[in-house]
Amino acid sequence: MPSRRTSLALAGALSATLALAACGGDASTGSGSAEDGLTVVASTNVYGSIASSIAGDAAEVTSIIDDPSADPHSFEADTRTQLALSRATIVVENGGGYDDFVDTMLAAADNPDVTVVNAVEVSGKDTSGEFNEHVWYDLGTVRLVAQSIETALSEASPDDAQTFQDNLTTFEAGLDTLQQTIETDAATTTGVPVAITEPVPGYLLDALGADDRTPVEFSEAIEEETDVPVDVLAETLALFTGKQVRALVYNEQTTGPQTEQVLTAARDNGVVDVPVTETLPEGKDYTTWMTENVDAIATALGA
Ligand SMILES: [Zn+2]
Repeated sequence: MPSRRTSLALAGALSATLALAACGGDASTGSGSAEDGLTVVASTNVYGSIASSIAGDAAEVTSIIDDPSADPHSFEADTRTQLALSRATIVVENGGGYDDFVDTMLAAADNPDVTVVNAVEVSGKDTSGEFNEHVWYDLGTVRLVAQSIETALSEASPDDAQTFQDNLTTFEAGLDTLQQTIETDAATTTGVPVAITEPVPGYLLDALGADDRTPVEFSEAIEEETDVPVDVLAETLALFTGKQVRALVYNEQTTGPQTEQVLTAARDNGVVDVPVTETLPEGKDYTTWMTENVDAIATALGA
């Protein structure tokens, strides 16, 4: 819990930010008109896109993390984030340790009426033991998150409830189509050996039935930004030199010397590489983006 001193310091920082916002204008990545002041703040633009799909023009949606070149795992929030969260009607976060700064900042914010949608909690997944927190690559979770956002929006603005419901129906239809694509692809991709740099695409690879051969110690070390032990790196590189995998799905947003080494090994040995990201590329919505991910991975796996 924040101390009183921290709260006071934040309050001071907030007034400074307010003054800046008043003269400099608001450069946040918002959408919608929000006449009634309905605001949704999402921890990343993935959840921001899902929220925008449901809210339409009835809410202003802001995403805290939207830089495609940054690694969300090492994001440092600022007073601008604190201000957005303290004003939000609804906050959408991933949870599961991915974006803890949201909970920390909400605890310090004077916003008792905020509704928090936590994707990991909504997913109902068992988080004990080895847990992959990249749940937005799981269509079932995304559907539940969208439904929770619709419920929260309808409670906050009952007059717009029909619009939110209609938007949810449209969004879910897009997920249905994508789920169908995955099931069709899985007829070919099931059992196909694959390697990853870190677990970001894990749920999608599972849905495609792909056989992830990456040593767990490798992807964990990359995810946690620690050095990969020499023997584990050798074991990983052998997947490519020995052509034991059909494709390498790598996280473009978490790269370093060891992921570069793995990528080079894949390319040198004719193993297809497929880049994926933690956040949404500019100008795309969730369903378009995930459909492209599915198509790229399934194609690499022979579908
Ligand atoms: Zn990650």
